[in-house]
Amino acid sequence: MDGMIAGRLRALPQVQRLLERPEALTLTGRFSRDAVVASLRAVLGEVRAELLHGAALPDDAEMLRRAAAALGANSRPGLRRVINATGIILHTNLGRAPMADEVADAVAAVARGYCNLEYDLDTGSRGSRTQAVEPLLRELTGAEAAVVTNNCAAAMLLALSALAGGGEVIVSRGELVEIGGGFRVPDVIQQGGARLVEVGTTNKTRLADYRAAIGPHTKVLLKIHQSNFRIVGFTEAVEVAALAELARETGLLVIDDLGSGTLTDLRRLGRPPEATVQDSLAAGADVVAFSGDKLMGGPQAGLLAGRAASIDRLRRHPLLRALRLDKLSLAALEATLRLHRDQGWEAVPVLGAMAQTEATLTARAERLAAMLGPFAGLRRTTGFSGGGSLPGEAIPSVAVALATGIPDRLAASLRAQHPAVVGRIHDGDVLLDMLAVADAELADLAAAVLACVPPPPM
Ligand SMILES: *Cc1c(COP(=O)(O)O)cnc(C)c1O
Repeated sequence: MDGMIAGRLRALPQVQRLLERPEALTLTGRFSRDAVVASLRAVLGEVRAELLHGAALPDDAEMLRRAAAALGANSRPGLRRVINATGIILHTNLGRAPMADEVADAVAAVARGYCNLEYDLDTGSRGSRTQAVEPLLRELTGAEAAVVTNNCAAAMLLALSALAGGGEVIVSRGELVEIGGGFRVPDVIQQGGARLVEVGTTNKTRLADYRAAIGPHTKVLLKIHQSNFRIVGFTEAVEVAALAELARETGLLVIDDLGSGTLTDLRRLGRPPEATVQDSLAAGADVVAFSGDKLMGGPQAGLLAGRAASIDRLRRHPLLRALRLDKLSLAALEATLRLHRDQGWEAVPVLGAMAQTEATLTARAERLAAMLGPFAGLRRTTGFSGGGSLPGEAIPSVAVALATGIPDRLAASLRAQHPAVVGRIHDGDVLLDMLAVADAELADLAAAVLACVPPPPM
């Protein structure tokens, strides 16, 4: 070995010497001593490798700086805040529904201590985990009973297992969908221990098709929201009311998988109409399944509302134990349902975002552009509610376009900010769509952009 390299290796400090420096004291104030020692060892290992490649020996202060940087980077949470500038309100990859302050506060209140999760405070004995959310769901939907699971996929698995297991489920060929993430209706029916009987064609299914397919093993007529696609042209589908009548006549049950499941008539938000959970129940569905974090605007959850006789069978099924919600989600769900009941849809952030006018979005974009500088301009865009809620229903929106060249690099450095910013690239520009950005996020958003795009010198 080169004598100079050997000399530098001998001069490498011991961990103990580095620990005695004042900078190390600052570190052991923030991190455990073990974590600081491990980080210093890692830095010394790196430095040793660099010395062997002929690098010069850094001084002790530099090694402590490197350890501090590594500790700081490690302490940043992996799951962290993102500003959603994609123009998609319910972005499954970005956590779907943002929650109102009341909802976040309800979660925090339950997280820090104990709670009456399965405890009846009136009697001092064991209570039901869903004692708070079930009455709210009944009140809001008009259902006789309700149960909840950890998402709508789980809700469907439970409903099919409990109500169709060992029998046949009839589904229109126009509704055999795959929702994102590999949730395929035929697979869930099979997992539920039932046999799928397809009826009709891709574009047209009539009541007579269902009637002809009913046999001695049929248990359920299943209707599924198309969610992430539309069939246009010559189409025909059977409404829940007609299916429910057929089911009454033949002693079957109707399950309606609404997916997005709005509690609010979307026309009140200025959006095209969509059947509500209440509509489906009033039309005679025995069980309606829907997500907590799509158009209901709450936490991830699967809600099942319907007739008491069917819901009781779900409640008694052993799968419910495996699919149950935790206390944090239950706190968020209860608070979200209270918002719907006591304050109305305007208080639910997802619905508020869907109801925004172009004037509101333009004003937000102008505020952001003014904070940024001449490289930022306004663009009209097309946003979406997303999350498989209303396929093809575009929402006119406005974006701030960042014309800086090399859009991929700009998009990558925006994603590396804290909070991270996720926009989209269009025609060589990075677009920051205002549809899913809150006014309260504008300052953070502007700071993130300015950290990536230095404004031109004065
Ligand atoms: C989204 C969706 C689901 C799955 O809901 P998760 O809550 O994401 O599990 C099931 N069915 C339909 C029709 C959907 O749109």
